[in-house]
Amino acid sequence: MPGNSTRVHAIQDITRRTLRPPTPLHSLESLWASDVYTLDKMKEHLPKEVFKSLKKTIETGAPLDIKVADVVAAAMKEWAVGKGALFYAHVFYPLTNATAEKHDGFISVQGDGTVITEIGGKVLVQGEPDGSSFPNGGIRGTSHARGYTAWDVTSPAYIMETNNGASLCIPTVFVSWTGEALDKKTPLLRSIAAMNKAAKRVLTVLGNKDIAQVNSSCGAEQEYFLIDAAFAAARPDLLLTGRTLFGKPPAKAQQFDDHYFGAIPERVQMFMQDVEERMYKLGIPAKTRHNEVAPGQFEIAPFFEAANVASDHQQLTMTILKNTAKRHGLICLLHEKPFAGVNGSGKHVNWSVGNATQGNLLDPGDTPHDNIQFLVFCGAVIRMVHKYGALLRAVVATASNDHRLGANEAPPAIMSVYLGTQLEDVFKQIQKGTLTGSKVKSVMNLGVDSLPQFAKDPGDRNRTSPFAFTGNRFEFRAVGSGQSVSGPLIAMNTMLSDSLTWFAEKLEAAVAAGTPVPQAVLSVLKVIMDEHSAVVFGGNGYSAEWHKMAEERGLPNLPSCVEALPVLKDKAVEELFSKAGVLTPVELASRFDVYAEQYIHAIEVEAKLVISIAKTQVYPAAMTYLSSLTDTLAKAAAVKIEASPETATKVAGLVKSLTGTVAKLGEALAKHDFSTTEQHLVHAGKTLRPLMDETRKIVDALEAEVADEDWPLPTYTEMLFIK
Ligand code: ADP
Ligand code: MG
Repeated sequence: MPGNSTRVHAIQDITRRTLRPPTPLHSLESLWASDVYTLDKMKEHLPKEVFKSLKKTIETGAPLDIKVADVVAAAMKEWAVGKGALFYAHVFYPLTNATAEKHDGFISVQGDGTVITEIGGKVLVQGEPDGSSFPNGGIRGTSHARGYTAWDVTSPAYIMETNNGASLCIPTVFVSWTGEALDKKTPLLRSIAAMNKAAKRVLTVLGNKDIAQVNSSCGAEQEYFLIDAAFAAARPDLLLTGRTLFGKPPAKAQQFDDHYFGAIPERVQMFMQDVEERMYKLGIPAKTRHNEVAPGQFEIAPFFEAANVASDHQQLTMTILKNTAKRHGLICLLHEKPFAGVNGSGKHVNWSVGNATQGNLLDPGDTPHDNIQFLVFCGAVIRMVHKYGALLRAVVATASNDHRLGANEAPPAIMSVYLGTQLEDVFKQIQKGTLTGSKVKSVMNLGVDSLPQFAKDPGDRNRTSPFAFTGNRFEFRAVGSGQSVSGPLIAMNTMLSDSLTWFAEKLEAAVAAGTPVPQAVLSVLKVIMDEHSAVVFGGNGYSAEWHKMAEERGLPNLPSCVEALPVLKDKAVEELFSKAGVLTPVELASRFDVYAEQYIHAIEVEAKLVISIAKTQVYPAAMTYLSSLTDTLAKAAAVKIEASPETATKVAGLVKSLTGTVAKLGEALAKHDFSTTEQHLVHAGKTLRPLMDETRKIVDALEAEVADEDWPLPTYTEMLFIK
């Protein structure tokens, strides 16, 4: 067996591991939402009046009547206690991509020393975690640490089961004592409200009478890697940063594309079933699973839901993936680029807007050219991506996503819109002022009578576009696999609210001046195409020609966080968010500070680890090998055998470069006198990162030379192929 003892032990552990016994299969009906306090359960447990009042709040956003809270709290507690919960937690979403929770017991000590379980309406509705250690971008000093959580009734409460018991979880927003949003949920709810208002205004000018609440929907496809926990335990880089800082690409990676959509390995399928069972219990509609492109890479996608619920469910999905992996002796990596040289992971956010009365507002139907309502919403999207493309780039900017965006596997760092042939044609006709029709769906004939004939979609798919129309929604493909979907959803909803408001103003004026609605719409759409069609692109987004063309079209190309994050400080972005009532200038500024700080921390932690692994693991291994080579060469020379010193010379040279580069990285890391956050950002991105990459090159070259039995780190081949 190859490898040094650490690796040999890991491999032995894995190959001798007995698989977890498969979970008995339950029917979907018996699992579905059994751990969720659904409307149905509320209806059953609550007095009629209380239920009606609560339902109104959930469905129409009407203010929550505090009098009903006590009754709801008591009923919810009864249900939770019946499910074995002793604690409840206000769950919130701080500006990290994590989920936070503070647990409190239902326990209430009585005067006679006995205890009962209890939760009052007030504590259900409002909590006060200190939480002053969460990043807040200067909104709160530790001396003004008060923060509140408040129940978001539009996202249902649920039971979180662990091996150690169960807790009742209540989704909440998290705000400071001064009322500023410290989380991702508050602005998401505000962005939905802003979009709803603007969309209703447009729908009204278009002549609709009955208009229900407009919401955005989100279906997020999640990619991830599974690696055996025994390997991860021997890789400090995977443990602390979620990615391999070193590692020579394996001889066979993904060139055969034999993993993509291949048969799912048994152990992985058992893991997936476990994940899905937990998701179903929590009312998360897991729908699709498959192998992804890279070896060891997989995907899970749910059926889409309303943005706010989808976002909470997406956070839960990430938690479930990670926790379930542990129970199967695996670790689930949500990092965007855990392994160099093989594909990274993204999260495709499918996004649309619609309501109960007008349906999906981004559904073109078969003849988009005469679907005025669709054209308005689609035109508004074109305008928003052109006007705020840089913002769209900024909300997916993280240290880890930098490895993926712009590489030849993921959408480029340039934001453009793919419409597909049919729609692109319709919008071009509008621009020319000659709108006559839509290209029709053709029928695909496969030449075998027994096979069904099917209608071909009017547009193909373009996997190289960051923002692609996919039939009845847009798919934002640049989102990182480890990211919360809230940031992108907040940006998209807010940008759309801005475009729709602009559109409504133009239409209202034209209609007031006597222009018929369809004509008014077409002339506004022509303005959109004249001013914003530079963002529409149907070609290969990975190509060098596109980079050149995009520059000529004036589209920003922001390759990394260093360029992308400062966009959050643009005046236009500040105005966009404050006008829509989504983020105040103070809240927005705090977000820049937090995200920049997170980027800097991420790079610095990696740099420290690069130094420590290089010094304490790689250097000793290289020296051990060098010593055995030189010993052998000396012995050979003593007996006059000619032995080639080439490898020894090469290893010695690499060790010398390693020592030099690591020393440079150490010096750069010690620098701390930055007068602005931007300066620090630039230092991390433009000095530390390149030095880390340089170190990596040397270490990977050493891995190709040093004897396998001396090499301390599990290799790519082992991690990606042994399961
Ligand atoms: P693909 O990999 O072909 O893009 P998937 O089936 O893996 O497709 O994922 C598509 C995602 O898009 C699913 O989560 C699906 O529910 C979601 N989706 C479908 N229609 C809409 C819509 N109107 N709004 C938002 N998401 C949608
Ligand atoms: Mg997709």
